[in-house]
Amino acid sequence: MIWLWVITALLITSELQKIEPAKPETIAKKTNFYSTWAWRKLRYKAIKHYGGTCMICGASGQGVVISVDHIKPRSLYPELALDFDNLQIACMPCNMGKSNIDFTDWRQP
Ligand SMILES: [Zn+2]
Repeated sequence: MIWLWVITALLITSELQKIEPAKPETIAKKTNFYSTWAWRKLRYKAIKHYGGTCMICGASGQGVVISVDHIKPRSLYPELALDFDNLQIACMPCNMGKSNIDFTDWRQP
């Protein structure tokens, strides 16, 4: 029976060796994306094009924090992070509620 434990321990060890620690540039890309010139320029373009009203709940005006939402979440579709056609306007509560689990396109046809 002990051979089973030995084999299991060897398998776990070999699997752990395959896991690489996150590279600093990968972390930087994740944390600094919203500070990049490319994103800010695209974000401005989206707000200018669509306006400052939440496309999900209709909130706008003073006290409403508007965000530019990735329809297909950046975490799952990083290649669409800077694709204008993947952006819509959402207030922060709607954006937070949507998270990366809903891909509804709320833009008007
Ligand atoms: Zn909203």
